[in-house]
Amino acid sequence: MGSTGSIGRQTLEVIRAFPDRFRVIGLAGGMNTELLAQQIKEFHPQLVSAQLVDPLRDLLPAMDCEFSSLEGLASHPEVDLVVVATSGRAGLLPTITAIRAGKDIALANKEVLVMAGRLISSEAKQKGVKILPVDSEHSAIWQCLRDEPEGVVAQIILTASGGPLHGLSQRELATVTAEEALRHPTWQMGKKVTIDSATLMNKGMEVIEAHFLFQIPPENITVIIHPQSIVHSMVEFVDGSVKAQLSAPDMRFPIQYALCYPERLPNPQLPRLDWGNIGSLTFEPPKLDRFPCFKLALEAGRRGGTYPTVLCAADEVAVDLFLQHRIGFLDIARVVEETIDRHHNMEQPSLEEIQVADSWAREAALQIASPLEGIKKC
Ligand code: MG
Repeated sequence: MGSTGSIGRQTLEVIRAFPDRFRVIGLAGGMNTELLAQQIKEFHPQLVSAQLVDPLRDLLPAMDCEFSSLEGLASHPEVDLVVVATSGRAGLLPTITAIRAGKDIALANKEVLVMAGRLISSEAKQKGVKILPVDSEHSAIWQCLRDEPEGVVAQIILTASGGPLHGLSQRELATVTAEEALRHPTWQMGKKVTIDSATLMNKGMEVIEAHFLFQIPPENITVIIHPQSIVHSMVEFVDGSVKAQLSAPDMRFPIQYALCYPERLPNPQLPRLDWGNIGSLTFEPPKLDRFPCFKLALEAGRRGGTYPTVLCAADEVAVDLFLQHRIGFLDIARVVEETIDRHHNMEQPSLEEIQVADSWAREAALQIASPLEGIKKC
């Protein structure tokens, strides 16, 4: 899912490196029809889900695969593993469909766990489905926890690069453009997650994600700024010993680990750390007062119910408006906070209630953003 996006393309690179191990049954791509057509020619999927069907048919008149919905792809009988590499709300229904069909999930679309973490965890447990993280921090934690007994974790130390804007003052942040916020110093990622990294919303969501993936209470998860993005996260155990996972910042590491788990396979295409030239690895506490989205995410996670759903929906709307230059960088937090304030929570929501809260929050966020657009134009 999301084969033409950043994680989707890198997933296919990993698959290309191991032609005997993987077969692509289905591809679901976004608006980049030319790239999707190339991927179909190379990987010969049986099923394709495309946003622009007619242009794809024009590019591939002799295409012999079937068109399908995302849910059709997610539940196809020959599929063992679904890589959910969409972003925002798009991954929610396909992920639930895949879990209900008993498919393991390699999850890169973290909003799915933030929006519906309790529901997804309990359905996955019921079905015996594994949720394998494709987020560099969570892959690191997962690797550190491997073969450790239960009840030995004292805390999780989640590293954050800080994004491109961490050193800026409040005044400088007010005038940041989408282009500046998209210039991430260490990671090549999709636009949504890059802006979420700049606001630290991404790190707040990752705390919630870690909570659901590893059943660690959020108060035992600490965030630390590590600008080099070499240490991808750490686990401190009850005896005070700490394990860390390190690699060059390249998403193909967590993708390959999830696809090959429980094996580790040699891949000469992945960059090696050059220890003689790394220099310093530094750590410092985050300047959280400048990044209200981080606190909003933690607070929504703590309150639970439909608050995290509303957080995700409002953030998706606000980031989209920011990318279109319609609101300012600091307005992203304003829109999210105001939307959350107006929300009436539902405890232990069903899938339907999550969808209702999501739609409500999108409408509310657009309304709240509307006068801010006026200010931005002036
Ligand atoms: Mg991450």
